[in-house]
Amino acid sequence: MSGIKQKECVRCGDCVKACPKKLDAQNLHLFANTINIKELRSLDLSNCVECGDCDAVCPSHIPLTKQFKLVKQQINKFEKQQIQAKENLRRYQAKLKREEKRKQQKKTVSKSLVATSSSLNENDNKQAVIAAAVKRVREKRKSKVQ
Ligand code: SF4
Ligand code: SF4
Repeated sequence: MSGIKQKECVRCGDCVKACPKKLDAQNLHLFANTINIKELRSLDLSNCVECGDCDAVCPSHIPLTKQFKLVKQQINKFEKQQIQAKENLRRYQAKLKREEKRKQQKKTVSKSLVATSSSLNENDNKQAVIAAAVKRVREKRKSKVQ
């Protein structure tokens, strides 16, 4: 503990002047307080090299570098989670598509099996009619011979 009490930002702009990367540390601090990712991105927070020059000149003794470092880590974590969530969604949708395709294939196969089976039945009926006719002819011939 340094014993120096941190105060509110007085918007003096000294941190902005001190930044070697020409970042708007004053507003970075403002948006880091509410973790406003959009604004932090537009102010190029990712370009902060965590040198500590802004802290050194801050009359309010705000630990800006520590705050920027922490917020960068939180944003990185959030972005990784977003990428993972997108990937999970893509995989889930692909799985649904595969399942739907499999269902359609099953339907097509079962339709074709029904068609084949009814055609076989028809064939069996024809064979039975022919066999009965042949049998009748043979019986007729037999009775004539007797
Ligand atoms: S810590 Fe970041 S914002 Fe602060 S002076 Fe260094 S580069 Fe600039
Ligand atoms: S130097 Fe400190 S008090 Fe001044 S604007 Fe930056 S953060 Fe605020």
